[in-house]
Amino acid sequence: AEDPRHVPNRAVVDPSAITENTRAIAGTLAGHTALMAVVKADGYGHGMLTAARAALEGGATWLGVAHPASALALSRAGLDVNILTWLYEPETAKAVLPEALRAGVNVSVGSFEMVSLLSEAARQADRRARLHLKIDTGMGRNGVLPQDVRRIAAAIQEDDYLRIGAAWTHLTSADDPADPATDAQVEIFDAACADLAEEMGPVPLQHLANSAATLTRPDLHRDIVRPGLALYGYAPVPTDLELRPAMSLTSRLALVKEVPEGQSVGYGRTYATSRATRLGLVPIGYADGLHRAASGRAEVLVRTAEGDVRAPQVGRISMDQIVVDLGPDSAARAGDEVVLFGAGAPSAEDWARAAGTIPYEVLTSVSGRVAREVL
Ligand code: PLP
Repeated sequence: AEDPRHVPNRAVVDPSAITENTRAIAGTLAGHTALMAVVKADGYGHGMLTAARAALEGGATWLGVAHPASALALSRAGLDVNILTWLYEPETAKAVLPEALRAGVNVSVGSFEMVSLLSEAARQADRRARLHLKIDTGMGRNGVLPQDVRRIAAAIQEDDYLRIGAAWTHLTSADDPADPATDAQVEIFDAACADLAEEMGPVPLQHLANSAATLTRPDLHRDIVRPGLALYGYAPVPTDLELRPAMSLTSRLALVKEVPEGQSVGYGRTYATSRATRLGLVPIGYADGLHRAASGRAEVLVRTAEGDVRAPQVGRISMDQIVVDLGPDSAARAGDEVVLFGAGAPSAEDWARAAGTIPYEVLTSVSGRVAREVL
């Protein structure tokens, strides 16, 4: 592998931003509502342990991850906290769930087969599993359909190694507060919880709110909220909360070149300068996680000796490099720092808009060859 000290590209993560974002969100919750920090996908690209520790410091008392292997890594790191994991197939379940259960991890089940897998793992671990029953209220992914809830609850109730600790679901459309799909899902969820209650008594915990619902629907906070994106500083809905992006993607100018009017740039010559100008070459490209679809639509921040300036990215984004138009009078020099996105610079949201995607994808696309630096 490349020695990252000799490559200028960095994903710089400020854990205090995650802590403060978490604290701001926790401050909007009623006293009985806990905060589960969603740190799946390597903490949305920020580093799972970094994100987890920072969120716990900000008041999170749960951690949520898709993969059981992530849950194990969190517990092996000694984080003394409730952990929920929800996505596995049979081979993963056999290999990882017994140890996860021994470590006290909460496992979700979203199908009859997952009930059997968890039961098997619980027997092997000789632990009673506290499971979160996932109900499919419209996402069509993981989760039991509402009409199967009673039947699955009965099967779980009969198994001495299993008990239901929570019922939960995931919202499809909470980022559009006007979309009636959210209330429709809530109605289905509440009916399923009522069915469950008839089978087993009141469900101990209920949770369904992602960042968008956490920010816009206090009535949906229930026992636990599960924000992800907002912890990292991006709100999927307008909010008064002050959230600060936790990750900056940075590089340094490899060269600055004076060019005449009409200079073409990049593959396909999709751009030509409209005046004599200075072009800056930045040694970061789509292999580092920039979205090629954003070509010619995004901006970067260049930290020059004469101050910070924004420069448009021009021409096609290449695998390892991009070109920015610094303007004819730029003070920029090779070696100057370039911020692709981050606090006080263009945001991951700006890049997402330019690429026709969402900030989630921009953050999690920063590739493995970009070194993470924790402030
Ligand atoms: N809950 C579950 C099950 C998820 O998969 C996710 C992420 O998509 C979240 C919560 C957090 O969502 P968001 O990042 O929109 O807050």
